[in-house]
Amino acid sequence: MSEKRTEISALGEFGLIDHLNEKIVIRHSSTLKGIGDDAAVIDSGEHVKVVTTDLLLEGVHFDLSYAPLTHVGFKAVAVNVSDVAAMNAIPKQITVSIALSNRFSVEAVDALYAGINAAAEHYSVDVIGGDTTASRSGLVISVTAIGEAKKEQIVYRSGAKVNDIICVTGDLGGALVGLQVLEREKQVFLSNPDMKPELEKYQIVTARQLRPEARMDIIHELRELEVIPTSMMDISDGLASELFHICKASNVGVTIYEDKLPIDKQTFDTAVELGLDPITCVLNGGEDYELLFTIDQKDFHKLEKHPDIHFIGHVSKEEDGKYLVTKSGTAAQLKAQGWKHF
Ligand code: ADP
Ligand code: MG
Repeated sequence: MSEKRTEISALGEFGLIDHLNEKIVIRHSSTLKGIGDDAAVIDSGEHVKVVTTDLLLEGVHFDLSYAPLTHVGFKAVAVNVSDVAAMNAIPKQITVSIALSNRFSVEAVDALYAGINAAAEHYSVDVIGGDTTASRSGLVISVTAIGEAKKEQIVYRSGAKVNDIICVTGDLGGALVGLQVLEREKQVFLSNPDMKPELEKYQIVTARQLRPEARMDIIHELRELEVIPTSMMDISDGLASELFHICKASNVGVTIYEDKLPIDKQTFDTAVELGLDPITCVLNGGEDYELLFTIDQKDFHKLEKHPDIHFIGHVSKEEDGKYLVTKSGTAAQLKAQGWKHF
């Protein structure tokens, strides 16, 4: 009799996590939130701690033929800080674990750590430990971040209410377009090593891919303005996919408007040049690390004039579904393509 074999691609990344979660037992009342948000939440007296971890693999998450090690180090920290921000918490400590093949020298590790230390300074976090081991397949880097907040400040994916306003920070699609540019220049270089890559023109989008920023600035501003979002997450897999997560966790629907979606000019122009639909890049491009959140209508006036927060739609009843209203005014069902890891 042959053993049953299910391909991971049959479940997908999120299906696999749900599948694993079915057998996971929470044993402590101090575990306020386990699997299923941007970070876990742990009760620790007056404050709560949030914990999140991300794993980056050479050849899967970064390509050292165009990603400088210093940027890889910075990004490994920033993506974790972004998940702490997504809980409306302040990052305090990180651990850093690396696996290295013998291709890497001390100088290479120093370059990686120059980025890690720069990010630690930038986000004001302490590197408190980690692990170092050998690898047979290039560089692996895993960062865990610990953050802090008052219990009532923590924002989950599950708090969105009907009629809340949907907000996104910054602009979207740049990291995906930047990746496409870097891949294109790599292919050009491989086929003709004498060609110099033409990258100046694409600096904004390539920087979005290589050295993303976590939006801690927004978290601090929301505190100053006394706004606590009703739900929040960071945009790592693509806006549409993240909206689906909020809808599922909050049991709501959403309507967003194409003409409200923020896109940078260089992202738009480069997408067109590459033959990509800019709106598809905004909806499904990953790794922008902007924040997606919902606010109660009563808080709108506090954020209305903010130059870097965009109001893209509203929360509706679950049975009303998930829609994108196009520029021509037709409502199209929103599809979550996201980043497919499997
Ligand atoms: P994010 O994109 O915000 O980093 P993920 O999509 O990676 O979040 O993860 C979603 C949730 O699943 C998180 O709560 C995360 O901690 C959890 N998770 C991911 N992989 C595993 C795993 N192998 N075992 C247990 N929990 C996991
Ligand atoms: Mg996240």
